[in-house]
Amino acid sequence: MKRAVFLDRDGTINEDVGDLYEIERVAFIPGALDALKMLGRRFSLFIVTNQSGIGKGVFDLETYHSFERDYSSLLSGEGIDIVETYCCPHRRDEPCICRKPSTHFMELASERHGIDLARSFVIGDHPHDVEMGLGAGARAIYLLTGHGMKHRSELVVVPHHVADDLAGAAVWICSLD
Ligand SMILES: [Mg+2]
Ligand SMILES: [Zn+2]
Repeated sequence: MKRAVFLDRDGTINEDVGDLYEIERVAFIPGALDALKMLGRRFSLFIVTNQSGIGKGVFDLETYHSFERDYSSLLSGEGIDIVETYCCPHRRDEPCICRKPSTHFMELASERHGIDLARSFVIGDHPHDVEMGLGAGARAIYLLTGHGMKHRSELVVVPHHVADDLAGAAVWICSLD
């Protein structure tokens, strides 16, 4: 079975600018692309993102999908292959099975792509990223980029590691091998 890294998107790979659906507004966090390249050599990469702006009607699914295609192209242009991007489009107050910290998408990835979750990692700047990772039996890394600083006190579970940014997380993960 394969190992994977499940990445949050906003505040983890790119700066969190709020509802993001225009490719021109994407600003990658310094070091993030090199970190993805490093991780991509050893792991299958997935993105798991909550985009409640869709459910709130700020932007629609069609716009989201077009953005996601462009975003993946930006990454593949850098030699970074994202196996799948999973998005929860629902509002916070809407019952759904896919919103992080739900482990739904990780289980889906495991089934579809033969991923061993116990040997996989989750990286994100929000407590719900850590909760998802631990819930799925993976190792979780909390980042201080994005909203990481602000939400740090809200962590109700203990991450396996706290890193300054994605670059730091990649170095830590690769040091375990
Ligand atoms: Mg985030
Ligand atoms: Zn959902």
